[in-house]
Amino acid sequence: MNDREVIDKLANARRRMIEDNLKRRGISDTAVLKAMEVIRREQFVPEAYRSQTYADCPLPIGKDQTISQPYIVALMTEELRVNSDCEVLEIGTGSGYQTAILSTLAKKVYTIETIEQLAESAKSILTKLGVSNVEFYIGDGSRGWPEEKSFDRIIVTAAVPHLPKPLCEQLAEGGLMVAPVGPAGVQELMVCKKENGNITTQMVCGVRFVKLIGEFGFAE
Ligand code: SAH
Repeated sequence: MNDREVIDKLANARRRMIEDNLKRRGISDTAVLKAMEVIRREQFVPEAYRSQTYADCPLPIGKDQTISQPYIVALMTEELRVNSDCEVLEIGTGSGYQTAILSTLAKKVYTIETIEQLAESAKSILTKLGVSNVEFYIGDGSRGWPEEKSFDRIIVTAAVPHLPKPLCEQLAEGGLMVAPVGPAGVQELMVCKKENGNITTQMVCGVRFVKLIGEFGFAE
């Protein structure tokens, strides 16, 4: 197969993913569906797994980490209700795929990753794609953004045993946070809202994420 044929084949697979795995399972936000169509997931998946890019499952990205399954990326993005005025904090850059999706919807994305090699790879892909509204930080995201700042939206893409306090503090009044909360192995996807300084939570569904390792996450 030549390059053109590979791109066309993946474009077809992407369209099928949107119909079969996203729309059919209830994702209806047109901005989210559009973002999942525009961002080519294969650019974030290691060469060896490229043919499985649009299968609805997580895939290895190296360093024992995974790129989340497309449906979960779409669901979390929909639940986050991002608009073009939003400043978004993402914990767990990983491959940068979720970051790229968010960058098409938000004013600005701030993303934190502990593993330098993953952060550098994500940064180089996004730079190549011409994305200019993302700031990267390498460090422990459970402690929040390193400068004093508040965010309209916070998305945590690794499992936390409970909501990290620094993230609750950096969530703006009226803001939303989406996070997988629970023990290693299986968690509940939670949507949290800050109102009058208090956080209220709502469960969405059961999920399985890799652990967030950090001061306000899991121990190593
Ligand atoms: N959103 C990613 C999926 C990331 S998997 C994607 O679309 O590819 C979770 C990521 O969280 C991993 O890359 C892991 O290294 C990172 N991580 C784990 N603990 C962390 C911490 N304390 N701060 C920031 N990132 C962390």
